[in-house]
Amino acid sequence: MQFENSREFAQEMDQNDALAGFRSQFFIPQHNGEDSVYLTGNSLGLQPRSVIDKLKQELDDWAQYGVEGHFDGKNPWFHYHKFFSESTARVVGASPKEVVVMNNLTVNLHLMMVSFYRPTSTRYKIIMEGGAFPSDQYAMESQAKFHGFAYEDAVIEVNPRPGEYALRTEDILQVIEEHGDSVALVMFSGVQYYTGQAFDMQKITEKAHKVGALAGFDLAHAAGNLALQLHDWEVDFAVWCSYKYLNSGPGGVSGAFAHEKHANNPDLPRFAGWWGHQEAERFLMKKGFIPEYGAAGWQLSNAPVMSMAVHRASLDIFDQVSMKQLNEKSEPLNRYLQFVVEDAAKSNDGLSFEVITPEERGCQLSVLTGENGKDLFDHLTKQGVIADWREPNVIRMAPVPLYNSFMDIYRFGQILKSY
Ligand SMILES: *Cc1c(COP(=O)(O)O)cnc(C)c1O
Repeated sequence: MQFENSREFAQEMDQNDALAGFRSQFFIPQHNGEDSVYLTGNSLGLQPRSVIDKLKQELDDWAQYGVEGHFDGKNPWFHYHKFFSESTARVVGASPKEVVVMNNLTVNLHLMMVSFYRPTSTRYKIIMEGGAFPSDQYAMESQAKFHGFAYEDAVIEVNPRPGEYALRTEDILQVIEEHGDSVALVMFSGVQYYTGQAFDMQKITEKAHKVGALAGFDLAHAAGNLALQLHDWEVDFAVWCSYKYLNSGPGGVSGAFAHEKHANNPDLPRFAGWWGHQEAERFLMKKGFIPEYGAAGWQLSNAPVMSMAVHRASLDIFDQVSMKQLNEKSEPLNRYLQFVVEDAAKSNDGLSFEVITPEERGCQLSVLTGENGKDLFDHLTKQGVIADWREPNVIRMAPVPLYNSFMDIYRFGQILKSY
């Protein structure tokens, strides 16, 4: 597509945007009485306007029924997690029994690793990306140590080649191959939080299986961003949060996927709780844990209904649109952002950018700025741009197809030029 850094072009793109109507379903943070240019949907998605009604329903049921709300409420809390199965399955490309909404992301990561990181004295290594999100690094470190292994020996990080920012798929596959039958688990993010690189989850999974290991993914930056096919790719497990691209509020409830092939394996060790016990017997308070079929069998506690009500409001929006449709907009939106950033640098000597996000990407664009980066970033903030600064000098931006417009990007470019 031939982009133009002009108001008319952005307006025309917005007029032809089949998803433009979704923007009005969200609250856009305000700056001096105007919509800010919000580019941090990768960090905290915006609030759907319907959230308050969804929350009110549960508060009203609690007020009216008290404990009976578990069965008599409009959305009985006893079954609450089930109201999420279909929508969640669509978002991550799974069958409804393979997904469950529960806890928070890092908690779910540990729970899944209890089942899927089962090291032996010879097969114990975890292969992961270098520079992974800190929580994932700490999770891998503590899991390795928990099983009695030295971190440096057990956790193998794959790093970019000198002078490069992104990982090459061939290098990832090669490292897996090299460590071969000492690998217990290959654990990657779906989209790298810093560079915005989208990993080839299918190829990574295939290779992990080829050496006899399992493959798990942290989809914090991928869920609601990319069209995923977790089931077809044969991914063993995955976890994600709901507050980034899934717009479900700070610290919102998270998700977990366990492939159907593991759904009914009684030999899988796990940390159990009453909510994962077979539903028909849950309130019989009997001895002997029998897991629910599928991902629901990994639940520990009763549903955090208030947090999940917010998530419901967001998933109702995802029900109205496919990930494919979202990607058909996020692709040109992201390219337009890159175009506008590079165009601004051409006409302003004070601006220098290097895009570190590779071609394989979702909504996010990460750019390395010059020495004046922090000053530039502060200028953007003062002018109503909400983006994300990462030391030492990277700006992360993620226009989101549900609520960002091409006009947002044009306005961003004008603010850049005014620096
Ligand atoms: C955002 C993010 C997290 C956050 O973890 P919480 O348990 O939700 O606080 C973890 N991992 C990755 C890769 C992330 O991007």
